[in-house]
This record gives sequence, structure tokens and C-alpha cells, in this order.
Amino acid sequence: MSRYFASLLAIAVIAVTLTPGAASAAPKEKEVDCTQVKCIALTFDDGPGKYAGELLDTLKKHNAKATFFLEGQYVKSRPAFAKRMAVEGHELGNHSYSHPNFTTIGPAAIRSEIQKTQDIVKQVTGVEPKLLRPPYGMADLQVSDIAAEFGMPMILWTGGSRDWESKNEEAIKKQTLAVAKQGSIVLMHDWVKQTVDSMPSLIKTLQNKGYHLVTVSELIKDQKLEPGDIFPVPEGWEK
Ligand SMILES: [Zn+2]
Repeated sequence: MSRYFASLLAIAVIAVTLTPGAASAAPKEKEVDCTQVKCIALTFDDGPGKYAGELLDTLKKHNAKATFFLEGQYVKSRPAFAKRMAVEGHELGNHSYSHPNFTTIGPAAIRSEIQKTQDIVKQVTGVEPKLLRPPYGMADLQVSDIAAEFGMPMILWTGGSRDWESKNEEAIKKQTLAVAKQGSIVLMHDWVKQTVDSMPSLIKTLQNKGYHLVTVSELIKDQKLEPGDIFPVPEGWEK
């Protein structure tokens, strides 16, 4: 091998090493532009749930991303799932520590619920949640002000799978497909076994309809939400 060729090779190796993303744990996926293609954000609340491992396997197999609105108490009891969620490119959101209705507790308690969850998620996964989903989707101006203090917008949903109610695979699929539209944020739960069981077929159906399954942050990129904002804005909400 000539010296010239060898040094060219060396340069090529350096160039490959310096390619952004090459050194990170998860390979960077091609970015999806949700203004150009159909996108949906599946969101899973109250976890990491018991069946999160199986759900993560399914998401990985189908190259789908999701957002997990985590409860701090379960991040503490199931840290391996939370870690996997982060490593595998899903988004982690804050869903309080122990799921109280924020509109019925005082400001100090709300702050503590949010802070404890930020802390445990950061400690376990290295990631700091940037989105808040208040328990039960319940918020008022006080909750909004506190979310703003934490620099987070509040994310609700455009449609629910009603999985916790039906606990029936066929009903979950039917309801989810009924609310799945361009730009939808769908509420699901990874503690409902039937939800996790329905995912392989549900994801295939959505992808066959041309939907890209993306994180909430990817989906709402163009909304330019400010800390304390709520999205989608619920009926009767004034600020
Ligand atoms: Zn919840």
C-alpha cells in the first residue's frame, strides 16, 4: 500500500469517526418532517408500567418512537425500563411523582411532585424531561404558572385509546384508529396489558396508512410552545 493511499485511508477513518451521531449510544434516525409527512405521537402514561419491556421491543421492531409520561415513583421502582426508553430514542415526560390531581393540592406540593420526578428521571436516565402532563390532564392557572417555573409546556392529548376503561384488545385498536389523525397525540397506558398486546398490529396498521410514529416534541415542533402553555388547548381554557 502506498503511503499516499494509506494517509487517504487515515483521513477517511477520521471523517467517519467525526460524523455527528456516530459516537452516541443510539444511532441517530433520519429526522421526520411532520409538516411534510403524516405524523402521530403515541403517549404512554403512568409508567414505566409492568409491560413496558414488551412494548419497547415492539416499538424497536417497527422503528416507532413514543413518548412516556412517567410517574417518578415507578421510575424509582423500574429504573431499567426508564433507562431503556431513553437509550432507545423515546421521549420522557413528567407526569408527577405519585399522580395527585394538581388542581386540588397546594403549590408547594405541586412543585415537589414535579421536582422529585425531574430528579429521579435525570438520575436514572441522564435525561431531563421537557414536557409536563399533569395527572388526569387537570390543570388551572396555578398549575400553568408552576409549569412555567420549570420551563415546561403542558401536553394533553387529542384523543384517547380508552384502554384503561375497555381493557380489550379489539376495542383499544378500534378506538385508537378512530382518533388517529394527522397530528394526533394519543393517550395510552403501558400498564394495560391489552394495550401492549395490541401494539404490533396497531403500529403496522398506522404505518400502512402512511403515519410516522414520532415523539411529542417532534410532532409539536412548529407550535412554538412557551413554558406554561397547554396543548392542545382544552375547551374553556383562558389565560
Ligand atoms: Zn395518569
